Amino acid sequence: MSETRIIAVANQKGGVGKTTTAINLGAALAEEGHKVVVIDLDPQGNASTGLGVPPEARKLTSYDLLAGDQGLMESLQDTAIANLRIVPSNSDLSSADFQLANRPGRTQLLRRKLADQTAIDYILIDCPPALGLLTLNAMVAADSVLVPLQAEFYALEGLSQLLMTVREVRQSANPDLRIEGVLLTMADNRNNLSQQVEADARNTLSGLVYRTVIPRNVRLSEAPSHAMPVLQYDSNSKGSAAYRELAKEFLSRQSVAA
Ligand code: ADP
Ligand code: MG
Repeated sequence: MSETRIIAVANQKGGVGKTTTAINLGAALAEEGHKVVVIDLDPQGNASTGLGVPPEARKLTSYDLLAGDQGLMESLQDTAIANLRIVPSNSDLSSADFQLANRPGRTQLLRRKLADQTAIDYILIDCPPALGLLTLNAMVAADSVLVPLQAEFYALEGLSQLLMTVREVRQSANPDLRIEGVLLTMADNRNNLSQQVEADARNTLSGLVYRTVIPRNVRLSEAPSHAMPVLQYDSNSKGSAAYRELAKEFLSRQSVAA
């Protein structure tokens, strides 16, 4: 594979599985031998913690990458997982909207930095729960947007706003931006509402929704406090199986799209 694919993992709702997906899809792709970088673009730093980079170990952060002079390659930190590196974040990023508001080209800061990199197959950008400057930077830099959708009642309402933002980015800075796919997360197939949301999502969005559905799985929620992806924490869990299956489906779609 020659070209780097950049995927923004975005949804303006919090708690829908963005970070869990960035970490575990990243780990599953890395396990397949792909060179993966996760960019933590959320001031909460959950992806950094979840990949074993605690606050005191974060050297250059995604805020420095956006606002400073350094390039992507010098911002990368290794994780305990082979083939998986991270640009961590910290709370500096929480003032980015304000600090960068008057910068010329403020939505293009990340795009410029990502143009200059080598030997990376996939860059997964873990976005914050808002459609502000950080998520815009991710969408302007990305080839595609992967949207985790929690299988619950209001899930589809928030989605139309997200899709509108994608259209706006297409009309301005990034005409080639695609929807990578919509991923149903935290699904509970004993729950009628969860099944109904899945059926509605598949009807409305048809081909965009991944066949793979991520079930609610306690091992997935425990893994971050052990500072590792679920694939390392409990390789045989349902959560691990689901993210490995997602990686397969993701890779097969990529080869169709290429
Ligand atoms: P976001 O990044 O969109 O805010 P997270 O990925 O942090 O969402 O997920 C929110 C919470 O739900 C976290 O505590 C996470 O561990 C948990 N979680 C995510 N996906 C699952 C799942 N499939 N099963 C159980 N818990 C999950
Ligand atoms: Mg998150």
